[in-house]
Amino acid sequence: MNRSKKIILLSHCILNSNAKVYSLANYSGCISELITSLCDKGYGILQLPCPEMLTCGVNRWGMVKEQCDTAIYKKQYKKMLLPIINQLIDYKNNGYEIKGCIGIDGSPNCGINKTCRADWKGEIDKFFDLEKKLNSLQTVNEAGIFMEVFFKLLKKNNLELSFFALDEENPTALVKAIQKELL
Ligand code: SF4
Repeated sequence: MNRSKKIILLSHCILNSNAKVYSLANYSGCISELITSLCDKGYGILQLPCPEMLTCGVNRWGMVKEQCDTAIYKKQYKKMLLPIINQLIDYKNNGYEIKGCIGIDGSPNCGINKTCRADWKGEIDKFFDLEKKLNSLQTVNEAGIFMEVFFKLLKKNNLELSFFALDEENPTALVKAIQKELL
């Protein structure tokens, strides 16, 4: 039997930058520096769904946490995550090692330690005050909404995971620190 029984979960866009909001796709396909090293160490990779792609598509605007913090989004996120939870339960019951999950700090959905908040809403028309909107944007030390839903589902199912995060603005900056923990 040639399998490591070692699994890592990744936020979707670590393996597919095409899912990102346009100006945030600052690498061409995947974060190869990280992926190659995980593969070389025998990790099987479980890719989380991209919550924004599945709800708003590739032409969406960038969002902030407040805009995703609605009952309907959370219901959808739960639905997306249940197949992942079911797989984790099965892996756990069969002696596999789930080494952790790598998210994207700064994302309103996939942030682990950091997310973005702002007073963003409305229409881009002659009343739109771009400067005011941009000035209201702040980074806060909280998880994004999708991850908050994931944390709750993990807890409910007695699953424990270690969480790591890449920085959305500089995706390779924290690769070495994560490799030090995982490899
Ligand atoms: S950070 Fe999350 S929501 Fe944003 S593109 Fe990546 S997977 Fe999708």
